[in-house]
Amino acid sequence: MVTHRIFNFSAGPAVLPEAVIKAAQHDLLALPDVGMSVLEISHRSTHFDAILRDAERTFREIANVPADYRVLFLQGGASLQFGMVPMNLLAGNDIADYLVTGVWSQKAVKEAKKIGRVHIAASTEAEEFARVPRLDEVVLSPEAAYVHMTSNNTIYGTQWTDLPETGTVPLVSDMSSDIVSRPIPVDRFGVIYASAQKNLGPAGVTLVIIREDLLARSPVTLPSMLSYRLLADNGSRQNTPPVFGIYMLRLVFEWLRIQGGLGAVAACNARKASVLYEELDRSEFYRSVADPTCRSMMNVTFRLAKRDLEPRFVQEAAAAGLDGLRGHRTVGGLRASIYNAMPEAGVMALTEFMRDFERSNG
Ligand SMILES: *Cc1c(COP(=O)(O)O)cnc(C)c1O
Repeated sequence: MVTHRIFNFSAGPAVLPEAVIKAAQHDLLALPDVGMSVLEISHRSTHFDAILRDAERTFREIANVPADYRVLFLQGGASLQFGMVPMNLLAGNDIADYLVTGVWSQKAVKEAKKIGRVHIAASTEAEEFARVPRLDEVVLSPEAAYVHMTSNNTIYGTQWTDLPETGTVPLVSDMSSDIVSRPIPVDRFGVIYASAQKNLGPAGVTLVIIREDLLARSPVTLPSMLSYRLLADNGSRQNTPPVFGIYMLRLVFEWLRIQGGLGAVAACNARKASVLYEELDRSEFYRSVADPTCRSMMNVTFRLAKRDLEPRFVQEAAAAGLDGLRGHRTVGGLRASIYNAMPEAGVMALTEFMRDFERSNG
């Protein structure tokens, strides 16, 4: 029976910082000064007021969120945002531009098409999403309601570094798998959204950052739970919010602050990723999947030259305490997700395993 923590390379729900898990465990029976757990108190109590306020304040501090942006803690995952973004921002006969860089952007397009007109401003599907588009390949509509992108493509292991220049058209980004992995130029975006279970906290809470002026676009006819304007007016508490998820986010944001903030975390993430990519580039035995120009710092996708050995790689890695290395079911291969909470020791252990595996099977 395994009772210690192993190294978890799953793409999501994914590893959380050990210090956060321990703090949550410590407070689960009774929050200090409260005598009840966060699972048992009213979402309108002063205790929960403090948790929600702290979560938002710490996030604003570490992510440097400008004053004219609202921070919302919602539900329904990134998948609900695929629909809410067009429901709130895409009116009548207007058109929305989408940058298609993987399965998640395709799903966002599918939902948007149910609401309004969509223009594919760029797609790398013909190259099996092994890269994101170059900025000179992006063809924007002159008067788009917004431009939608996926900042990190969890399944393919690609990530944007330079942002498309959209002028006054709001840029909307699904940052589910790389939010808080590096400093966020929030003022370049109209809306940022992220489901929590990759790099923020437990499944069930969705972070949305929206520029205040865009709230005016929410149609009055929208059901209340789908309206950014009403959700913002009600301070994310239009109904019972995901209290435990918000509590966990507060702990994660505090942990990030203690790590030195997003700049320090980004440097650490770059170190971890470069160790793995160097290992992949070093040998013919392993092949990196993503184009070197846009390799993800969060999800490292790779294959074995001898593909039939991949199941054995996954199995023996798991036996060695390295879990979750199987690639996404739609693309196969291998993937090491190395979110903020993956310790450098985990990456070192994986590299060591990769060398051993190559020696025994090369
Ligand atoms: C995981 C993921 C999603 C889906 O998130 P849900 O919370 O399951 O809806 C969407 N976009 C990206 C980039 C993801 O990594």
